[in-house]
Amino acid sequence: MKSVFTFCLSLSFLMNASAQTAAEFAEVWDKDHVSNIFPSNARHKDLQKYLDRLRKNDAKVNEAGRSVANREIYQVEWGKGPLKIFMWSQMHGDEPTATSALIDMFTILQKHRDKAWVKNIEKTVTIRAVPMLNPDGAELYVRRNLQGLDINRDALALKTPEAILLKKLRDEWSPDIGFNLHNQNALTTVGRTNKQAAISLLVVYGDAQRTVTEGLERNKRLASGMIDALNKFIPQNIGKYDDEFTATAFGDNLTAWGTPVILIETGALHGKDEMYLVKMNFIAIMTALRMLADGSEKTTSAAAYDLLPGNSSGLLVNIIFRKANIVDLTKPSEPTAADIALNFERRRAEMPAPTVVRRVGDLSTIAGLLEYDASNFFVIGRNQPIKTDNFGELLFYNKSRQVDWTSPNLEKQFPPDAVFSVGKWVKGKGVVPKK
Ligand SMILES: [Zn+2]
Repeated sequence: MKSVFTFCLSLSFLMNASAQTAAEFAEVWDKDHVSNIFPSNARHKDLQKYLDRLRKNDAKVNEAGRSVANREIYQVEWGKGPLKIFMWSQMHGDEPTATSALIDMFTILQKHRDKAWVKNIEKTVTIRAVPMLNPDGAELYVRRNLQGLDINRDALALKTPEAILLKKLRDEWSPDIGFNLHNQNALTTVGRTNKQAAISLLVVYGDAQRTVTEGLERNKRLASGMIDALNKFIPQNIGKYDDEFTATAFGDNLTAWGTPVILIETGALHGKDEMYLVKMNFIAIMTALRMLADGSEKTTSAAAYDLLPGNSSGLLVNIIFRKANIVDLTKPSEPTAADIALNFERRRAEMPAPTVVRRVGDLSTIAGLLEYDASNFFVIGRNQPIKTDNFGELLFYNKSRQVDWTSPNLEKQFPPDAVFSVGKWVKGKGVVPKK
């Protein structure tokens, strides 16, 4: 009896040692991650600092090429295994989350090389990753490269140095799996719900006919394992990215060229900051590596991926002011009762983000991450009327007030009870009640 017990104990110890759970990946990230600024605030020089530190820890970091503005584009290599995994992030300059996740991944793998679970990964896979493929776009925090071209529509035309480099790195190595790492709109939702898609996954087909290959089947099982891991943290916030074939995009073409791609799109999660999403990326990618290392990808069901609800858009906005009494200067005596929906513009975390009016009207079918009850207030646009695409600069007056809306210096002569400007209450916070 005793020996069986001991055997079971040591077996479970061995399995734990070689197969990290999602919770353990979260724990090691919490303890050892080195990305220390919000990804959206990180510039090329911050990446270089991260990579210098990796180099000091004996990681293989090489300059792989240059951007249009002659910024260095780096490739990091790790592992000694036969299975070749290629990852790239931030080919869209304003999609930075996974760049930090890759830095944390390499740092943590390198730091724990003496641990059995890392050794297993090390002997199974070789990873090559390009963090921040589009450093010029990242510097300006824009999607495209400095030629104004979308690198992810340049897989065939190859008019950008960044696309030429990415294709070259793939072609000279012929990796077995690709990870294409992006950010999606923060207001993307899971299925027809108003739950934000914090992470969306896609196993990318290589043709419009959706030909299923062994590599695609394997990637679906990997994606299922990644979903199971993420379900421990964000069970309602995982979606499947739209799987329409894009003939000029890199993901689709890498799959077609023989490197089946898993796409990870990071969205946002209300109440959680960017670092939390870095952690979710880390957990997802590490889970895939762990499944390849311990062989569990072969026995994992693809069901979680197959059943994953698709992404939706248009059901969620950042802020809704419900039942506002909107004052229109063309007929100031007849305010209209309507909901006002505002969205934030995409900005680095360190920059003030203005809001833009998304819709005005009966918005009972959509939700806001924040909602206010404006039924007791007249609302008027600060410098421009409240209508779609104008800035969300709003003045709030209690309905009991007598206001001459045509007054030439309205804000001075009739100080509002509350002012919403550049995405926040600059006056009268709390005056307009939350719903
Ligand atoms: Zn993208």
